[in-house]
Amino acid sequence: MAKKRLRAIMFGPPGSGKGTQGQLLADRFDVPHVSTGELFRAEIAGKSAQGKMLKKYVEAGALVPDELTNAVVTNQLKRMDLRKGFVLDGYPRNVEQATHLNRVVKINIAVQLRVADVEAVRRLVGRVQCVDCEQVYHKTDSPPIKPGMCALCGGNLIKRNDDTKNLIRKRLETFHFMTEPLVSYYRQKGVLLTINGEQAIPYVFEEIMKKTAKLGFKS
Ligand code: ADP
Ligand code: ADP
Ligand code: ZN
Repeated sequence: MAKKRLRAIMFGPPGSGKGTQGQLLADRFDVPHVSTGELFRAEIAGKSAQGKMLKKYVEAGALVPDELTNAVVTNQLKRMDLRKGFVLDGYPRNVEQATHLNRVVKINIAVQLRVADVEAVRRLVGRVQCVDCEQVYHKTDSPPIKPGMCALCGGNLIKRNDDTKNLIRKRLETFHFMTEPLVSYYRQKGVLLTINGEQAIPYVFEEIMKKTAKLGFKS
């Protein structure tokens, strides 16, 4: 029988480890990792017309409107061979986007990373990221070998503009209001995996791997 290909989404509050775990999962299954946050930040840095539009929302810690988000994601998905599988990180973020995605491709795993707000805030306040390769670090939990320098490529480590206390609060509120309803959406579809995101990084990954294996996915 042909190997079951992973078509996964990662969702959870900002700071829950979607990027960290999404990358690990994609590497393990050898599939592309597509992060809407990264796609948007690249557009913004490139100062395209679309980037200017995106900037307003991302810098305000608000969701980018569905029409624009769906267009960016669909455009990216069109360029990929979806039969080979993928990990979508940070999309969908509300039921409208999930409905749109369901028309484009059927998801077979929805990883929900559960992390309490206090822990999410603690993580985001200490998050730093490489300007060149986007590798994520945490000042105390997963520090770079040399402070301020990426251990992978030597690039500078910076804080994201939206990782300020006020914007973190706002993004968490948006998560509870807009994104949490995806729990019942994906439970109804029978693809929901609920993961305790408060464990250390390797243990979170182990739980994800165990639960995906139960659903018949072998890496
Ligand atoms: P998200 O993509 O959900 O916003 P990230 O993967 O960027 O989350 O992680 C947010 C911050 O928390 C980063 O600084 C990362 O190094 C750190 N982090 C991720 N997972 C864990 C974990 N299990 N325990 C402690 N810190 C973590
Ligand atoms: P985090 O999970 O840490 O908040 P991301 O890097 O996933 O960060 O997203 C950063 C920002 O990009 C969000 O605050 C939002 O403005 C925008 N964004 C990302 N994904 C979506 C989406 N699916 N729908 C709308 N806006 C999005
Ligand atoms: Zn780097």
